Amino acid sequence: MLLNDKSRVKEYLPIVGIAEFNKLSAKLIFGADSPAIRENRVTTVQCLSGTGSLRVGAEFLARHYHQKTIYIPQPTWGNHPKVFTLAGLSVKTYRYYDPTTRGMNFQGLLEDLGSAPSGSIVLLHACAHNPTGVDPTLQQWEQIRQLMRSKALLPFFDSAYQGFASGNLDEDAQSIRMFVADGGECFVAQSYAKNMGLYGERVGALSVVCRAADVASKVESQLKLVIRPMFSNPPIHGASIVATILKDSNMFNEWTIELKAMADRIISMRKQLFDALRARGTPGDWSHIIKQIGMFTFTGLNSKQVEFMTREYHIYMTSDGRISMAGLSSKTVPHLADAIHAAVT
Ligand code: PMP
Repeated sequence: MLLNDKSRVKEYLPIVGIAEFNKLSAKLIFGADSPAIRENRVTTVQCLSGTGSLRVGAEFLARHYHQKTIYIPQPTWGNHPKVFTLAGLSVKTYRYYDPTTRGMNFQGLLEDLGSAPSGSIVLLHACAHNPTGVDPTLQQWEQIRQLMRSKALLPFFDSAYQGFASGNLDEDAQSIRMFVADGGECFVAQSYAKNMGLYGERVGALSVVCRAADVASKVESQLKLVIRPMFSNPPIHGASIVATILKDSNMFNEWTIELKAMADRIISMRKQLFDALRARGTPGDWSHIIKQIGMFTFTGLNSKQVEFMTREYHIYMTSDGRISMAGLSSKTVPHLADAIHAAVT
């Protein structure tokens, strides 16, 4: 066949997608031995990658949840405010990033979530926060969890980079699993765009963890009513690829090895860029480059400096100073370091 497509089934899927894919996706994010899965308290529906999963979850909440405000980190992925606003939620922000340390503003986060009205929804990046690359430590996650549960704030996790932060799928799901382990409710949007390289196939899943199995089945029937008029049913091909890999232990192992190699390469690029700046004596503390995690580094360069680097060095990045470490190689690091050095001196 011209497109080398071996899966010949082109029928419609059910509204919630491939059942096996949903099961395997839940297992991947919550863990093979998750009590919530065992107790049938989780409902998972296949959606159009991470974005579609966020949108379906948000539409469901706008229709059925008693609080319509979602708190998103400041800054966050540029699409978040639009997705949630168009779904009918009202968007507010909580402090997350401290530009002076280029690290976490944990005190600000606790204060803002602490003063959010009880029951509000809170968007959390499961790992590898985009665009900052700054993640809470496990101790900080535990503090966030305690605060949120004490105020009945509803966690909505965006998991777009599982496996990309640490190189380990379980480690990168730790934040979510802490919230699920306490028996409380939680929403999770999963994307396979990055970790399986299936960007254009639009493969993702929305899981809703409920307190009881009968609630989960009611939630599922309401999710169907959200999905049906939005896109009827999801596409078949990408989800079949994911299910094939997740259920075969050899392929799964091969995938985890490749994921680790990708994550390690990114970590090594961080180290090389940091060393290159240090070798040039570039003014400033660049340790955030090695402290941050995931695909992106929030360099701290301002829009003027970014513009200078584009004009003089033909280096193209977002004007907020974010660079994709995945786009770097040992060959290009010296050029980037020269440009940063020139921009800040
Ligand atoms: N969330 C975050 C934080 C992201 O960075 C992205 C992709 N850039 C997504 C969700 C969604 O991506 P997709 O819809 O391609 O899965």
